[in-house]
Amino acid sequence: MAKVAFIGLGNMGGPMAINLVKAGHAVTAFDLSAAALAQVKVEGAAVAATAAEAVTDAEFVISMLPAGKHVLGLYLGEQGVAGNISKDALVIDCSTIDADSARKVGAGLCAQGIAFIDAPVSGGVGGAKAGTLTFIVGGEAAHFERAKTVLGNMGKNLFHAGDVGAGQVAKICNNMLLSILMVGTSEALQMGVDNGLDPKVLSDIMLKSSGRNWTLELYNPCPDVMPNVPSSNGYQGGFMVDLMAKDLGLALEAAMQSNSSTPMGALARSLYVAHQRAGNGKLDFSSIFKLFEKKAG
Ligand code: NAD
Repeated sequence: MAKVAFIGLGNMGGPMAINLVKAGHAVTAFDLSAAALAQVKVEGAAVAATAAEAVTDAEFVISMLPAGKHVLGLYLGEQGVAGNISKDALVIDCSTIDADSARKVGAGLCAQGIAFIDAPVSGGVGGAKAGTLTFIVGGEAAHFERAKTVLGNMGKNLFHAGDVGAGQVAKICNNMLLSILMVGTSEALQMGVDNGLDPKVLSDIMLKSSGRNWTLELYNPCPDVMPNVPSSNGYQGGFMVDLMAKDLGLALEAAMQSNSSTPMGALARSLYVAHQRAGNGKLDFSSIFKLFEKKAG
């Protein structure tokens, strides 16, 4: 079993760290939030007073932070823990961040003789709790193989996308497509309702027709069509609009850098940012359906 430092114990990082503890790893955790730390301490993780203390002597250093600036700050900036990380350690950043920041962190750590991979995840809080996340890894093949020791205890699908940064690129391509599917499914369902159809019947028809997609199968955005999804629970839980808007911003930045044409992604970002600015940032991303609903009056 390995000695693991885990930094960032929020909605995702908390349950991921707990799964490592359950698998028998010696986990030392650090988060700026005392409440987040208390939750993993109850489950058997050791708690460090600083990030530098957490990473000292760790074989694996895992981070799960909000955005690129936090990851840069942790490893190379004001928290600057690189000097405390063992040269034999493997650093695994699981946050969803821009590929450039991932490459900067990778290069900065590499210059100090420390191995790094980016390993963003898909599967949400449910997947983090169940240990069924998909990890999309960028980095050297040997580092990917080594990471399986810990990633296998937090997820069930492990992909090697390419060099450092490639995990982030694959992740935002996926989320851009997901947002487009969610918007398209929402407007189609509402158009059916506006024309007298039952959204459940229409969903069943499209599921067996060429419009079939992941959102219809597992995450129907129309309330009360499907049980146990955020749309049937006031759009609570799941994957927040704030995070989808962030990921679509990352997708657009990547598209500009590579001069890619992504008209659907750009439109989805505009819709999600408008939805966010209307006060829906904390709702699940399937709440974009509300944009198309016909209001009374
Ligand atoms: P969160 O806000 O719940 O957790 C982030 C945690 O990081 C917080 O506990 C915060 O206190 C801590 N933190 C921030 N800066 C820190 C620092 N410098 N040192 C130590 N701790 C610090 O966010 P989350 O939902 O857990 O998401 C984390 C990452 O996972 C994001 O990049 C997000 O895009 C990605 N992600 C989230 C989901 C999801 O469904 N929530 C799904 C896939 C990927």
